[in-house]
Amino acid sequence: MDTMESLCDITIFGGHGDLAFRKLMPALYHLSNSGYLDEKSRIITATRVPMSNDEHCDLVKSKLKEFLSDDAFEEEKFEYFKVQLHVVTIEFDILESYRGLKALLDEYPERQRVNYLSTAPDFFGTICKSMSNLELVTPQSRVVLEKPIGRDLQSSRVINVEVLKYFTESQIYRIDHYLGKDTVQNIMALRFSNRFFMPLWNSNHIDHVQITVAESVGVEGRWGYYDDYGAMRDMVQNHLMQLLCLIAMEPPCSLDADSVRDEKVKVLRSLRMMTPADIEQKTVRAQYAKGSSDGKPVPGYLEGEGVEESTTETFAALRVDIDNWRWNGVPFYLRSGKRMRRRNSEIVIHFKGVPHSIFANQGKCIWENKLVIALQPKESIHLQLMNKVPGLSEQMMLKPVELELNTPLKVAHKPDAYERLLLDVIRANPTLFMRLDEVEAAWKWADVILEGWAEDMVPMKSYSAGTDGPSAAVQLIARSGRSWHDE
Ligand code: NAP
Repeated sequence: MDTMESLCDITIFGGHGDLAFRKLMPALYHLSNSGYLDEKSRIITATRVPMSNDEHCDLVKSKLKEFLSDDAFEEEKFEYFKVQLHVVTIEFDILESYRGLKALLDEYPERQRVNYLSTAPDFFGTICKSMSNLELVTPQSRVVLEKPIGRDLQSSRVINVEVLKYFTESQIYRIDHYLGKDTVQNIMALRFSNRFFMPLWNSNHIDHVQITVAESVGVEGRWGYYDDYGAMRDMVQNHLMQLLCLIAMEPPCSLDADSVRDEKVKVLRSLRMMTPADIEQKTVRAQYAKGSSDGKPVPGYLEGEGVEESTTETFAALRVDIDNWRWNGVPFYLRSGKRMRRRNSEIVIHFKGVPHSIFANQGKCIWENKLVIALQPKESIHLQLMNKVPGLSEQMMLKPVELELNTPLKVAHKPDAYERLLLDVIRANPTLFMRLDEVEAAWKWADVILEGWAEDMVPMKSYSAGTDGPSAAVQLIARSGRSWHDE
């Protein structure tokens, strides 16, 4: 690879935060050690606690040991990596505190600059303004914005307008780490490089689609943050919507960033806006009550220290309709929740049954074909087919079997989503990042539901921690004679 392309200064604002230590540093360690980052590149951590470079390196080392998976930490590799590490002290609101960063960046004014804002969104505008005031924003600068970008259309506009005063749209990388997962990218490979899916991928052959993102954990000490957002804003509006777009979009004319994003925006604009009656019929919101997780009792969402009365949902389920030619009459069922029975993220494409079954009169169940795209805890793609059970029985017995579609392609190191996404920012490839119009279209659709919920159009349900969510979610899909994949 051309190393000049990867020569850059990466500044992480909020560099001693949870995300920086758990995801960004391990990703940069791998990129550096696998040669994707030029050895002269610098990784500059901005923190508000003053410390020396040596103290910072020791801290990064201990965090890498904690968060790198599969024993990937190696002393020798760290010695190579640590040469790239720098630390500066910055208090976001104090312009003068950016001087140390300026001194470092000004050493190489022509270099590509990646500014990763791993902070609460309230700081995005302040940080960008300070960088601009000190002339640290150059044509080679990019800025990465972490989610959540606002809590509705209005607040997301305020944030975006502020950042757009200092960076152009093409310099802004709005991250949705789900798009960095290999299996998520594989959806495009599967759909657009395998001819046999092409004629099947529409309402003639697909009955419905299910998208589930279930977490077994609760709010894990982040109650204050989570309570401002809830499942709809934290998961559905971004991660689940992005997955829906990849399944529903038309083939882009190329893999070029705007071609892909144009097609995703078209899907978001085709989502049927919910009426009050739809919100009542097609949405479910719920909070978890006490229950168990991994066999241990766990408190409910409204129990515990620092917890207040709240109407924030920890679970959301919805039936989404897409008003276009391809998907007319094909519902997309979405659900996401915390403290669910198991951690499980998957997309299931349910195909229609055969037009006439010669096996149906045996009283045996004939299953429909399903394509199961699993994202968590393991990434895999399975096609469920009906197969004859071997043997001499008088009547032909059928059984569903699973064909694994992605086994043969093994790699030594499977990159984490943040590795792929950071490298794309370094390479200035925004394909897997959300463009402004995408973010706004998703909020526009979600806002209607959130407003309906705020007006209590749907009662808040409850579910025990460690279960599959409220029975209302089962009823939601059962209304059309269907059931969730894992029921
Ligand atoms: P965090 O642990 O609270 O880290 C935020 C960092 O910002 C802290 O290191 C904090 O410094 C620093 N900071 C806060 N106020 C500051 C100020 N006035 N001046 C200078 N530094 C200041 O949060 P996080 O979990 O890393 O999340 C960062 C962002 O990523 C959030 O927007 C979050 O929603 C998003 N995100 C996080 C995750 C995740 O897994 N953690 C996943 C997806 C998205 P101190 O350490 O000195 O307080």
